[in-house]
Amino acid sequence: MDPYETERDTMIRDQLERRGLENPRVLAAMRAVPRHLFVKSNLREHAYADRPLTIGFFQTISQPYVVALMCDLLELKETDNVLEIGTGSGYAAAVLSQLCERVTTVERIPELAEKARETLTQADCPNVTVHCGDGSLGFPQEAPFDAILVSAAAPSVPESYRQQLGIGGRIVIPAGQSRSAQSLYRVRKKSDTEFSTEDLGGVAFVPLIGEEGWRDV
Ligand code: SAM
Repeated sequence: MDPYETERDTMIRDQLERRGLENPRVLAAMRAVPRHLFVKSNLREHAYADRPLTIGFFQTISQPYVVALMCDLLELKETDNVLEIGTGSGYAAAVLSQLCERVTTVERIPELAEKARETLTQADCPNVTVHCGDGSLGFPQEAPFDAILVSAAAPSVPESYRQQLGIGGRIVIPAGQSRSAQSLYRVRKKSDTEFSTEDLGGVAFVPLIGEEGWRDV
């Protein structure tokens, strides 16, 4: 038996269901993924806490609720081809891997990409591929995508993501002109030239650094 099963059940009840998250597929995915494998060993006891945790390199593994909410907003189907930008620990990619057919995830920091690859193998996520590079440009080699989840905040929605999305596809992305506070947006592609955008409220993510993101300082 997994020693963290009870903590995971508590996380789902107190952090997700109590906040109104009802999507049974997303709740099952959050129950299935061993989040404790994706945090630093000295932080294991906090793995299921209601907050982000440091993963080194000034980056974080997102709060469980934020991962679940973004997955819910993407309206994923089992057959979907999904792109995630900002692999970090690999946790969100692991949750996505339970909800769709294929996940391509891109991380700009080589050490995090390598560690995430190892953890995703350990967590048995064979349908996830980790790439290292500037994810602000998307990943055209695997496009078109049914859904794109962006785990870092951009100044605006990168044009590359709009282009690499299939018709009917969804992007969930934190974006805004301030590096410290942004809104969460859901963008839907209605045709090659038509998109709808919903503003889902304020969030705070680390910056997306790259050609179509923020410049590194
Ligand atoms: N999804 C991650 C998880 O489950 O652990 C958390 C992501 S963390 C909040 C944001 C990540 O985005 C960081 O690891 C950061 O290095 C990465 N990042 C920032 N700019 C990027 C870019 N242009 N391309 C790829 N990754 C980027």
